[in-house]
Amino acid sequence: MKKFLIYLRLRPLGLVSFIALSLLYLMMIFAEFIAPYGITTSFADKTYHPPNLRFFEGKFQAQEARVINTVNWRYARVRGSYERVVFFGRGEPYKLFGLIRLDRHLFTSPPGSYPVFLMGADHLGRDLFSRIVHGSRISLTIGFIATGISLALAILFGGLSGYFGGAVDWTIMRFAEFFMLIPGLYLILFLRSLLSSTMDSGQSYMMITVILSLVGWPGSARTIRGMVHAIKREEFVMNAQLETIPAPVIISAHIIPQIASLLIVSIALAVPGFIMTETTLSYLGLGIVDPAVSWGSLIKRDISTLSNLKAYPWLLSPVWFLLGVTLGFNFIGDALRDFFDPYHSLGLGSRGKGRGGGRRFGGKRLLPSLTNPGETNTPVSGTGRADPLPPSPSAPLLEVRDLEVGFSVLRGFTKTTIQAVRGVSFSLKAGEILGIVGESGSGKSVTTQAIPALLPKNATVRGSIVYGGKELAGLEVTGRDAPVRNASFLREYRGKRIGMIFQEPGRSYDPLQNMEKVFLETFRNGEPEISREAAVERAVSLLAETGLDNSRERLSNFPHQFSGGQLQRIGIALALAQSAELLIADEPTTALDVTIQKQIIDLLKHLRTSRGLTIIFISHDIDLVADLSDRIMVMYGGLVMESGPSELIARHPLHPYTKALLASSPRFGSHYSRQRLFSIPGKVPDPANPEPGCPFAPRCALAEKRCAEAIPPLLSEENARSAYELRCFRGGGPWR
Ligand code: ATP
Ligand code: MG
Repeated sequence: MKKFLIYLRLRPLGLVSFIALSLLYLMMIFAEFIAPYGITTSFADKTYHPPNLRFFEGKFQAQEARVINTVNWRYARVRGSYERVVFFGRGEPYKLFGLIRLDRHLFTSPPGSYPVFLMGADHLGRDLFSRIVHGSRISLTIGFIATGISLALAILFGGLSGYFGGAVDWTIMRFAEFFMLIPGLYLILFLRSLLSSTMDSGQSYMMITVILSLVGWPGSARTIRGMVHAIKREEFVMNAQLETIPAPVIISAHIIPQIASLLIVSIALAVPGFIMTETTLSYLGLGIVDPAVSWGSLIKRDISTLSNLKAYPWLLSPVWFLLGVTLGFNFIGDALRDFFDPYHSLGLGSRGKGRGGGRRFGGKRLLPSLTNPGETNTPVSGTGRADPLPPSPSAPLLEVRDLEVGFSVLRGFTKTTIQAVRGVSFSLKAGEILGIVGESGSGKSVTTQAIPALLPKNATVRGSIVYGGKELAGLEVTGRDAPVRNASFLREYRGKRIGMIFQEPGRSYDPLQNMEKVFLETFRNGEPEISREAAVERAVSLLAETGLDNSRERLSNFPHQFSGGQLQRIGIALALAQSAELLIADEPTTALDVTIQKQIIDLLKHLRTSRGLTIIFISHDIDLVADLSDRIMVMYGGLVMESGPSELIARHPLHPYTKALLASSPRFGSHYSRQRLFSIPGKVPDPANPEPGCPFAPRCALAEKRCAEAIPPLLSEENARSAYELRCFRGGGPWR
């Protein structure tokens, strides 16, 4: 609760709503004190009296008004005739909370003097404000109580149904559906008509609460059932079952807490719904019975005609209260939902609108950071080269320039930006394999996810990503009003020309789809008319190409029936199914054992030769990357530290970080040399508070003063075959 209140500071609407609702609930609790008059106190001859409070010369006064027409109750204000309104003055006696005898009111007119009508009077000359204040007792509690009861029913039935499944599930769900089948209002009216018409206020309150709860539970029960159903298969629940913990304990102690945040949000959003339903019933005269009042019962006959509304507009005041409460709960519900969102993301990122992105002019790229280092304000600018890249004979397939990715997130309670990638540039020719290495958190995944624009909404992407001559960085749809054509434009690339495979192959598939469906969906994406037979034929040949045995029989299998290595082969086949030219493999072998790892590497090598596939391969394992790729890019703290031909990087690295990575990777025979394996001291920098200098400086044995002061520039050298880049003051050495 405390955390949420602090969080609310960032949400002005939520905060205002919270304050307003708190005030209303305070008003409800001290209703007798706040209201100047009792709930039934009526002033004879003051029917439809207009509001008469005014503030004049530092005093509150009630103006007198005389009836000039008793047919349509017209009043004329009496000039100069005012009564003082007293604060904390004595008025009608009452019992606070039904216990404490008092007669002081927040404000009132002294007995015998002219009454004060803050919001006018109704058709019996009763003060409307007092009635609204008293009516809040019902309107503000009925929603909570009804939500509480319906949620308890929903948790009970939904929990049982989801946990036990089978016949229990079937019975409960059909029962719930019976309730859901009938439109809510009809059901309420029907239930209400079954009840006696001679009830007192208390009974009517209870009956309506029960009716509302009965109508409300089935929807939530279904949601809860679905969630329980999913959670009960998680390992921790199975573990609890193994320990023979009884089901009610498992449900209440292990499963319900998992869905608590959802429940809190649904309470906040359900309360105004119930308040409105009660209003509807009371408006129809089927709700709260006199003498009790609710806001709904105040909005009755009187305002049902326009002429009445025009003559006595103040009769609409309860509506404003209702509106305020409904909106308030909704805004708080929204804030709660975002609060419980694990990503805590704030706002929408703007993609590709950055400063860095170069433009293409006549097929030649102008690179601001290379031609004129002063042109960009990135700290990482300037390479050793003075001239722009000569237009290469074969244009690269992918060219990433000055890519910067920031995430706006909540850290504690302040909004911060995590600069995950800080100016990465590389280019990739068709058929080339680029390996990206670096420790966990160095920005490898974020860099590659930016290419097909897979980053979440809170990411800000700057720089340029040119793929096959097209700038991709601006393609992602940003905000609500971004041009829709961007979406279809992007679809051309994501999945179709650029394929991806991930570390956890098991998580990349829908567990309820068999492989045939997965392939069919993939093919249909590109060719909507493809027949099932043709799709199966193509899937079989692709699977055979990626080395999956018995591929025809296995198409009917579900993801959990495959091993990790087999799933990776299927992932690669799916990328090929869309005839992807570029395959981004984000640690595809980390979850696999060494033999399977080798097989996948061989498969990728084979596909590069047979299909000319271009590959970006990410791994922690520098040896593995060196084996597969033509070039290696070493990343750290969102920066490129060193990049060049694999041979060179793996055999003669210049950067202390690359050297450390190589030294810390176990090699065949290292066991016999009796040397302890090297581990890099310290830890990866926090991207929210980047160091001013080289990110590796705090862990680097060679670091000197200047290393901690400024980020070293990325020096580059190029020869006919390849390019080499290094970001280090100490690594030194010309191109070898
Ligand atoms: P690993 O080897 O563990 O996969 P990585 O090099 O792929 O690591 P990235 O996933 O690229 O690392 O993450 C780089 C940084 O960006 C990390 O510090 C991470 O916390 C941050 N980051 C990534 N995604 C998000 C996000 N959605 N919101 C906020 N920060 C993020
Ligand atoms: Mg990663």
